[in-house]
Amino acid sequence: MKRGIVLGALIAVGALSMAVAGFQAPAGQGREGQAGGDGRGRGDGRGRGPAGPPMLDIMKVKDNLWMITGAGGNSGVFLTAEGVTLVDTKNPGTGQAILDKIKTVTDRPITRIINTHTHADHTGSNEFFGTTVEIVAHDNTKANMQKMDNFKGDKSVFLPKRTFKDKLTIGNGKDEIDLFYFGPAHTSGDAFVVFKELRAMHAGDTFAGKGTPLIDGNNGGSGVEYGKTLAKAAAGIKNVDTIITGHSTLMTPADLKEFADFNNDFAAWGQAQMKAGKTVEAAAAEYKIPDWYKARGYTIGNPIGQMGGVRGNLQVIYDELSKK
Ligand SMILES: [Zn+2]
Repeated sequence: MKRGIVLGALIAVGALSMAVAGFQAPAGQGREGQAGGDGRGRGDGRGRGPAGPPMLDIMKVKDNLWMITGAGGNSGVFLTAEGVTLVDTKNPGTGQAILDKIKTVTDRPITRIINTHTHADHTGSNEFFGTTVEIVAHDNTKANMQKMDNFKGDKSVFLPKRTFKDKLTIGNGKDEIDLFYFGPAHTSGDAFVVFKELRAMHAGDTFAGKGTPLIDGNNGGSGVEYGKTLAKAAAGIKNVDTIITGHSTLMTPADLKEFADFNNDFAAWGQAQMKAGKTVEAAAAEYKIPDWYKARGYTIGNPIGQMGGVRGNLQVIYDELSKK
């Protein structure tokens, strides 16, 4: 089925679907506080609208690694000998607020940005940090970003210049960072960013939190592959004990493995619904989080109560299966 038709159908269904349609609109079309990113708002009303600067919080994850929450996806701040590597730049207009938070922990300059994926709540403030900063992302994320208004024309200088396909190691010694790609999930270009010495990683929105995932079919995300991709990451990334999620709290590798299982179970359930001839609407209406996962904190939508609903996920899975 064509995406346009899907989108039209979604818009017809009402408020929830409007949210999903916004999520599926080409990224970067939205302005701050509107669709175009999937990290809109945290449910507390902070950092939105014209009332004032975005409100962010910074917390120490390990020595030389911090997480900044608020105004989009979680950012990672990794202190190296050369300067700061910033993983994800939140919503447009958040650059100064990010810099202010970083200045509370170090005076070193920001020398590198890594974008875990294309969405505007993770790439929105790249331009604030200027053209001398090295910007790194997966090949497919660069391609997805090139479709965004935020990175067209003069702003193409804020696209990633250093990209990778399967794995890339940057930096030396205790500053070494491994970037891994294991296949499509949230988008077609989700990078796992590993700070080797610290045994920590940033998983971006591929692990946004414990709940039904956000699958962006328009940017190459895959509901069929999602769990498999996560399982590959869980098996392939060794020596990590702490995970920064896209929009939730810190997690562990055991949580990542569990989330892989959840997504594989969800894809299998979706496939069974389709085989049984159920419409996306009918199947979505029946879905309940299995008790085993519910007891472990899983919810419909993600932990901050925004997009990533069952219906949108199922639509992506149905679309993928009907192409096979
Ligand atoms: Zn995202």
